[in-house]
Amino acid sequence: MITQSPIINGDTVAYWIVISEDNILSFGNSNQILHCCWQDLACIHAYEDNIIGVGSHNNKPCYLVDTGAELVDYDGGEYIGLRMALMEAEANLFGILARAWQIALFMRTHRFCGQCGSRMHNVGWEMAVQCGNCSHRCYPRISPCIIVAIRDEDRILLAQGVHHKAGMYSTLAGFVESGESLEETVHREVFEEVGVRVKNLEYFSSQPWPFPHSLMVGFLAEYDGGELVLDEKEIVSAGWYTKDNLPLIPPKFSIAGQLIEATLNRIEQTQS
Ligand SMILES: [Zn+2]
Repeated sequence: MITQSPIINGDTVAYWIVISEDNILSFGNSNQILHCCWQDLACIHAYEDNIIGVGSHNNKPCYLVDTGAELVDYDGGEYIGLRMALMEAEANLFGILARAWQIALFMRTHRFCGQCGSRMHNVGWEMAVQCGNCSHRCYPRISPCIIVAIRDEDRILLAQGVHHKAGMYSTLAGFVESGESLEETVHREVFEEVGVRVKNLEYFSSQPWPFPHSLMVGFLAEYDGGELVLDEKEIVSAGWYTKDNLPLIPPKFSIAGQLIEATLNRIEQTQS
């Protein structure tokens, strides 16, 4: 449960996600987040009004404290970039860090009303801000984005996007446009980016991806015809790969890595 005005006292024991600019205060080799009671956190007491409850972790409440551009020192802690924190986080910490970051970003970018320019205020009982003048209300933005692994018998289609790190090949992905269903997005994006048609779409799973506020919705699909024709604005190179000649692919913590693994497993099943 996200609460914008949690009741905090000196004895409140919680996990504290302290964010400064786009860095997270982190502890130890496994990048654990701060776990202690409020009275031991004199260094962030000045930010008491910025505390937002972002859910729970290990059955303890979890609070976001955004110190903006200020770096608050804490013994034994160091600030690490959000992307690194997420990549190294244990599975049960990934979601709460992703959520905290998206809420911090939402609060930073909704201080004023988009309709009349007046100051926005916390709604308090739900995660939203509302204009004191015209009552326009805003919620944290979530941008749905499809991601799809395409299989053709014993091969998987992998592509290097213009924004991928050098040599990394992944599944295709793209944002849902207004008025579009998720399935329509899959067909449109695949055809636009690599010029092929797909069939037998199957929902796989989803993953929040806070760069800055995507919700990746994963599908498995099968090739249904067409030659590879690349959209050069989006795709540097693409090709069909068998299990034995894979290029560099994304890690398994990402939904792209999981989609590729699931597709390779299916290829293996059909071959045995
Ligand atoms: Zn307004």
